[in-house]
Amino acid sequence: MNLEQIKNEIIRYADIIDCKGFSPGTSGNISLRYQDKIIITASGVSNGNLSYDDLVVIDFEGKLIEGKQKASSEKMLHVEFYKKRADINAIIHVHPTFLSSFAAAKKGLEEPVMAENVYYFGEIPLADYALPSSMELVNNTAKYFDKYNAILMANHGFIVGDVDLAQAYLKLELAESYAQIVLNAKLLGGAVLLNEKEVAEIKALKN
Ligand SMILES: [Zn+2]
Repeated sequence: MNLEQIKNEIIRYADIIDCKGFSPGTSGNISLRYQDKIIITASGVSNGNLSYDDLVVIDFEGKLIEGKQKASSEKMLHVEFYKKRADINAIIHVHPTFLSSFAAAKKGLEEPVMAENVYYFGEIPLADYALPSSMELVNNTAKYFDKYNAILMANHGFIVGDVDLAQAYLKLELAESYAQIVLNAKLLGGAVLLNEKEVAEIKALKN
């Protein structure tokens, strides 16, 4: 993909993310790895109506290389994820209602509730709270980047990375629906968990 195609791809998915209500207000940021650089949404823009000017290019130190606006304030979170994981080429950080509800309650999604989620995520851990945009937040969250593609951020939101933007978006959609299911199941007396054998069988499907 060339730079223009990458920008179009980000704008397309940002629009879907907005329509789904995953990034209320001007929250959330999206990035793609582009050769030895990162294309990322600018600071303070709403995902719903992005233009080319709302996307900027940064290097792996977070320095602005190209663009008319400041990069997202969470740019170092993206930089660190890409640095730790050569297999990750697209990252979405958002504040969807149900995932953020778990983040607000400081609860990870770690129990084996639904087969599909055991298969795709294993668990979705909870990273400790730190001030948004701070290096402390980057460090608290980056601890999980080695082992996990999807992480809840306490009292804040959610971040997911994948091989491309289409996959990252699908994981976001899946995780948000999963959070809603777990919450709803609590209203029904709590989910009945899959047992160890059932979890092992699901994980074996990956091999
Ligand atoms: Zn955020």
